[in-house]
Amino acid sequence: MTSPIEITAAVQLLIDRVGSEYEYEIIPVQAGIATNGGRMVPGWAVWLSEFICEAEPTEAWENENGDLIAVHTPHVPVDQLMFIPDDNINPDGKHIRVSVSNNPLVDHLIALADLKDFLVPYGTVLEDGKVNFNTYTGNVYNHYDALFNNLLLFLSEGKKIGAKCYCGSMKPYSQCHGKNLPAAIEEDKKAVKKFNDALKEDEVVQE
Ligand SMILES: [Zn+2]
Repeated sequence: MTSPIEITAAVQLLIDRVGSEYEYEIIPVQAGIATNGGRMVPGWAVWLSEFICEAEPTEAWENENGDLIAVHTPHVPVDQLMFIPDDNINPDGKHIRVSVSNNPLVDHLIALADLKDFLVPYGTVLEDGKVNFNTYTGNVYNHYDALFNNLLLFLSEGKKIGAKCYCGSMKPYSQCHGKNLPAAIEEDKKAVKKFNDALKEDEVVQE
């Protein structure tokens, strides 16, 4: 994974999807510097991997000269970062992802990554970045995290949607683990919300 410095079709699609009224900038990364004076500017860090172009909510520091500088340690070591300032950023931490390829398997990979983002607020983020969930939500997370990792490996092997599924069933992925995946994800989202809402109500009653 890297941060793009060229505007490819996928990067442009992501910029459009973000819909910020500001232009992107390629800014230097100087993690851990003192940010006296100036101000923090909300926006998106743009990342590019083999399959996904992704915007991550973050903020950059604008010094007194008006220069933007990435001051948070990025999860991938880069010297420069594509940053899109955005005053209207949704602070829920959700990423925006677009496919870099026309392989429909990548759409499944994005749906799985989006689901993991959806689940995180139902847990507690620990210092090492891991998330503690209640048992039910944790099981859903682990289930889809495994599917994500399997699919990522499958894609890395150059597989398409009609290839034999990674699980060894000898059925095409589209008729096996890929069957109705987006619908299953939507169902599980609803179920997790319902479960956690009910849990919250129980807590209120017990207090
Ligand atoms: Zn399968």
